[in-house]
Amino acid sequence: MKAIAKCYPQEGMEPSALIKRIKEAELDGIAISAISGTKANFQTAKMPFSGCNLGILKELMNEENLELGLILPFFHDDFIWQNYPEERADINDPSQTWYRPLCPVFPGLFRERLSLFKEAVAEINPDFVGLDFLRFPLFWEGLDEKMELRSCSCKECPADGKRPEIIASMAKEAKKEFDSLKVAIHLVPFIGRDVIEVTGQDPEILIDAVDILSPMLYHRLLKREERFVLSVLDELPPFRVWPSVEMSSSFRENPGLLKNHEKIIYFHLDLL
Ligand SMILES: [Zn+2]
Repeated sequence: MKAIAKCYPQEGMEPSALIKRIKEAELDGIAISAISGTKANFQTAKMPFSGCNLGILKELMNEENLELGLILPFFHDDFIWQNYPEERADINDPSQTWYRPLCPVFPGLFRERLSLFKEAVAEINPDFVGLDFLRFPLFWEGLDEKMELRSCSCKECPADGKRPEIIASMAKEAKKEFDSLKVAIHLVPFIGRDVIEVTGQDPEILIDAVDILSPMLYHRLLKREERFVLSVLDELPPFRVWPSVEMSSSFRENPGLLKNHEKIIYFHLDLL
């Protein structure tokens, strides 16, 4: 079992200092986003550069035998949200704070994201990629026991059971593009039928589209017990799942049942 931590690069981040932290935490690597806020963590003509070059970080990590997974946020983006308001998902959820959902079916948007991330992968050369926010909008971080599912009401967005098919075909296309890499998809932590109809993330279909399912099982954030994590994992095929659990949970000290998974993705390095 490999221990990987999600990592959100700060401006002015020193690669060598980050590597030192990863080693001190006895981790096998990190999963890090290609984009931070309105800036890209690689050089591209399509977006401003953050100053944090993940290609250089990756080379240094290779020397230390550490893994770098690249997280590709499809339909959440501050830069597009600010500059192209017509591409926003029309969602009215007062609990959403940082979430900047985009409309998955806005014409050409998916291809545009894919082409941006192709550039990122070519430049950074990651060990695996994680398809993130590849779903119709749902601010699941804000869901309480009432589980009131608020999604978008865009003109174009289907609400009649077509969402899983659309998301699965996008996931397939992304897998085709990154065929030489292991492709994971980050899943919202609820996999009931009602949630699947909203997000379009159907694990049963997605497992045939990509290599790995990585459900974000942040039970503390969701104010649930640790057994919530195991109850979701019970529903999924273990050999194709990288559970994502909180760094602060007892799983970090004692992985227990999670030991059978190839990787655990901890959320996140700064919470150590
Ligand atoms: Zn929509």
